[in-house]
This record gives sequence, structure tokens and C-alpha cells, in this order.
Amino acid sequence: MEITDIQVEGYEKVVRCRDQASGLHALIAVHNTTLGPALGGMRMLSYASEDEALFDVLRLSKGMTFKSAVADTGLGGGKSVIIGNPETDKTPELFRAMGQFVESVGGKYITAEDMNIGIPDLDIVRGETRWVTGLSRESGSSGNPSPYTAHGCLFGLRAVLEELDGSGDFTDKHVLVQGVGAVGGRLAVLLKEAGARVSICDINATTVQALHEEYGFEVVEDDGHHKVACDIYSPCARGAGINDETIPELRCRAVAGCANNQLLDPGHAAALRARGILYAPDYVLNAGGIINVSVELMPGGYDEAVAMEQIGKIYDNLKRVFDISREDDVPTNEAAKRLAEQRLEAGRAERAGA
Ligand code: NAD
Repeated sequence: MEITDIQVEGYEKVVRCRDQASGLHALIAVHNTTLGPALGGMRMLSYASEDEALFDVLRLSKGMTFKSAVADTGLGGGKSVIIGNPETDKTPELFRAMGQFVESVGGKYITAEDMNIGIPDLDIVRGETRWVTGLSRESGSSGNPSPYTAHGCLFGLRAVLEELDGSGDFTDKHVLVQGVGAVGGRLAVLLKEAGARVSICDINATTVQALHEEYGFEVVEDDGHHKVACDIYSPCARGAGINDETIPELRCRAVAGCANNQLLDPGHAAALRARGILYAPDYVLNAGGIINVSVELMPGGYDEAVAMEQIGKIYDNLKRVFDISREDDVPTNEAAKRLAEQRLEAGRAERAGA
């Protein structure tokens, strides 16, 4: 196994692994550990080149620094990528080698599930290193993060409602959830329990029909759903749905959902603001999963009650983001960045003083 450093300005550690025996070709990026070890998922994709994989791992690990700083988990930002076809290239040897690669970073990087990586893969990785989170609840780990992401989103939506109306009461507020999978489906149920009027859409008609029958949600066509009048539009499917085409057609008062990278371009936050639509930055709102996982690393180990309490902080974090946005007269995505930078600065000052 050959592990080599790649020097990248602004990153604490970037390493490449080539292992002939298992065929592993992977990268780990540790962007920043000011606030704690760098936690971030492991993904596997058929990248066209190592450069493409490097671009992805750098971008994603930096994003994790900001996400964890705003979420206030006491963690830094990192990510890992395996260059390979998840359909055909997965072997136990590959994941054992990946485990040794993670171990070689000495706990500076802690891994978890991400795109095309499942718990069975991470179980093999865990055989080689203890720096793995998000395994099954039976194994003492924090388990499936999706329900916690949904809960976190609900807490955040209260802050959104307060910003809109001065009250966090969901009664009769109309929320449109696009994408009713693991997170969106659960969120829709939680919203209904909280008294909201919930509409749903999804490309999967079977899922929509089943949820409609069980919970009585209103169903809207996925095609053109963004034009539906509602209080909160909650994208919980894919990214990039908020763009030059959709923004002029939105008839919601807020965009607040769990899907990653909802804005096609960061500038679209300003475009939403110009239309008077409140935007809850996706990575602030969808941090429930990462907060849940972070509880595993607390001295007492994973405890669901502690996790739920920590996830409640998403409400406070969003309130803070909205405050900064108003006080500094900047779009909310810029406000979230400023909150992350404030926390990183406080972490640096604490370290310097220690
Ligand atoms: P999922 O795959 O369980 O659900 C996604 C749902 O969206 C599915 O029902 C799917 O049919 C639907 N969908 C996909 N493409 C669509 C399209 N073009 N139009 C309409 N519907 C479409 O995924 P999930 O775990 O619920 O995650 C949803 C989003 O939240 C993703 O963007 C994910 O990155 C993000 N997210 C998830 C978590 C988590 O804990 N699962 C944490 C943070 C962020």
C-alpha cells in the first residue's frame, strides 16, 4: 500500500492511497480540525480521473467544516472518496484496505456513510480502524441518520415560521415537501403531527400514493411543483432545484428543506432574498444526521436523548443565521458562512489561549 501526501493550500492534510493488492485508489481530505477531528462521509464513484475525485473531496471536506461549525458539534471537516465503480468494484479486500488508509490518518479523519457506501461496507472498514461512525444501533453506534435529519428539519422550520410570522405554530401553515424518501417522508409526518397542512410530491408515484392513503397528505404533480402556492417549500429530493428558471415562478414565502445543494449557484440566495423569500441554508437545516453521529464521539458514547437535545440546536443556529442576515444585510447563505467563521475564530482563539 502506497500512501502519499498531496499539498493543497488551505487544507490540513490531503492523502492519496494506491494499493495494488486490493485495487484501492482513494483520497482523504482533512480540511480543518480547529473545532475537533474531521468527520465526513466516504463516497464511492466512477470518477473519470483522480483530478475529478480530488476536486470533489476538497469541495466536500471544506463544506463539512462549515456544516459542523454551524451545527456546533465540536468536529472539523473532512471527507474521503474511493475511485471506482460501486456496482462492480466493491470487495472485502477493497474496504479492508480503505480501513487501513483511514487508520493511517491517526484519528484526524473519522469516516461515515455517504454516496454508494452502506453499513456492510463500513462494517468491513471498522475491522481495520475505530475511526468509523454511523454503524448499526445494535453495534452501539448511532444507526440510520435519516429520522434525525427529519427531526432537525422540523426544529429548523419552527425558526423559519418565527422569522416569517413571529410565531412557530404550524397550525394550518401549508408546507410542500418535495421528495418523500427517508427524510422527506418522515418530515411530512412530523409536520402533520405538528398541525401543518402538508402537500407532497415525488417522482416515485407509488411512495406518494402510499403516504397519501396512510396520512391523507395532499398530492401535487412533481412536474412544476415549485409553482404551488404555500408557506414553506421544502425540497427534500435532489439539489439545484432553486435556479434562474424556478425562482421567478416560486409562490412560497420560504424555501427550507433537507436536500443538499438546493441552490444551483450561491448567488441564488440573493435572488430569493430579492423576491422576499426566506431561504434556510440547506446545510444548517439538514445537520440532524451529523449531529446524531457526533454524539457517538462524546465521552459517554451514543445516547438518543442527548442526540435529540443536541439536534434541537438547529433551531438556535437558524435563528442566529437569520439574525446575522438582518443585522449585516446579507443573504442567509452568507450569514451561515459568517456564523461558521465566527465559531472557527472562537475555536482558534481558545486553542491559542490553552
Ligand atoms: P432518499 O433517496 O431516501 O429520498 C429521496 C426521495 O426523492 C425519493 O423518494 C425519490 O424518489 C425522490 N426523488 C429523487 N429525485 C427526484 C426528483 N427529481 N423529483 C422528485 N423527487 C425525486 O434520500 P434521503 O435520505 O431522504 O435524502 C434526501 C435529500 O436530503 C438528499 O438530497 C440528501 O443528500 C439530503 N440529506 C439527507 C440526509 C439523511 O440523513 N438521509 C442528511 C443530510 C442531507
